Amino acid sequence: MFNRLLLTDLVLPPHIIGLPNVRGHCFLTTVLVMLMRSHSFVRCLFRVNQEVTSDVNSGVELNPLNRDVLYSFGEVPFLWTRAFFRFFRLYLKVSRSGRLDLLNLPLGLWPHYGSGDATKVKPDVDLSLDNLMMLICRLLGNFVRADYLSPGGKEEVFYSDLMLQLRRESSEFVLTAHVLLSVSFVCADCESQFDNHPVALPYVFLRDFLGSGVSGFCDFIADFVHLLPQQLITCIGSFGGKICNSDRLSFSSHEIVSIPSLLVFRFPDLGSSGISGQMTPDELTITWSSEILHYRRIAYSCDYRVYDGGVDSESFRFPTSSEAFLGWHSIAHVLTTRGWLEYNNGREGLPSPALLGGHTSYSLVFYDMDNSFVPEPSICFEEK
Ligand SMILES: [Zn+2]
Repeated sequence: MFNRLLLTDLVLPPHIIGLPNVRGHCFLTTVLVMLMRSHSFVRCLFRVNQEVTSDVNSGVELNPLNRDVLYSFGEVPFLWTRAFFRFFRLYLKVSRSGRLDLLNLPLGLWPHYGSGDATKVKPDVDLSLDNLMMLICRLLGNFVRADYLSPGGKEEVFYSDLMLQLRRESSEFVLTAHVLLSVSFVCADCESQFDNHPVALPYVFLRDFLGSGVSGFCDFIADFVHLLPQQLITCIGSFGGKICNSDRLSFSSHEIVSIPSLLVFRFPDLGSSGISGQMTPDELTITWSSEILHYRRIAYSCDYRVYDGGVDSESFRFPTSSEAFLGWHSIAHVLTTRGWLEYNNGREGLPSPALLGGHTSYSLVFYDMDNSFVPEPSICFEEK
């Protein structure tokens, strides 16, 4: 009963909506839509932002998004929490209407979105959402890696980079969205030795999962600890002023410190086919440290090649031999009251059967800890 009255539940997006992509940042829209579906993450963001806000209001912390602060001091504490929360706040507001109307896209960019007038159509919430998404992207470009300042990118890199910035600002983000490990290892390259070194993984890499099927996945996860040496952990030793980054590590021990409420898996490169033909299970149970943790699959991303077929080149389909390869595209699948729906930039629709039955190369799969008190996000999507 009291769970229903939690203030943080009132800020969960009542609907999931897509996001605009006018600059070739589909990987970014995919990850942000999936994060908005995670009750665990949204609650965490809300709580951390509440603390930061009270510190900013009382003068303990600078307001990191204040223009003068940003220009004078650059990356000050809680910049990332505040930037992400600003995006979230508008997403929450727009999502109450149940759908995102893309009215202000440049004419001719994607004909299937319609032909809005790019300069006159109101309301312009699509531009406002784009603006706040690009704020996150621009900050990552300025402070993390310059790649974000140009179109294109990988969702697992964006997700890792974003989570790294957030977890530096609050341990709540570690507990909510990272598998926390304690590892002891020796590096074969720089010969550094680390004992009980904490490592926070934003996702679990499914390197050896292929070919094992759904039941295989459950077996695979059942002994969660055995996954750990396979993760992309690199040496943090330094020599000559540079971080070693070697992956030639010999582990003498590794153990889990905490398992998050938002548990994310990442698929490897699946080769030329690009689709695994097997799904992760809808529900997941992990027994760890005498606890039984129940999860539900809430979202997953799909990455696929798109071809110049003249019509709707962003949708998934198998190419004809004459079509030219254009590049990669990323979309999200999200569990809603209407079942699984596809979020392809700003559009929502029914998923391709091929993508409902298998994961793709580099798929991120989001599992949220089961909480039966929280309703599914509803959806205003109308089948055409
Ligand atoms: Zn090393």
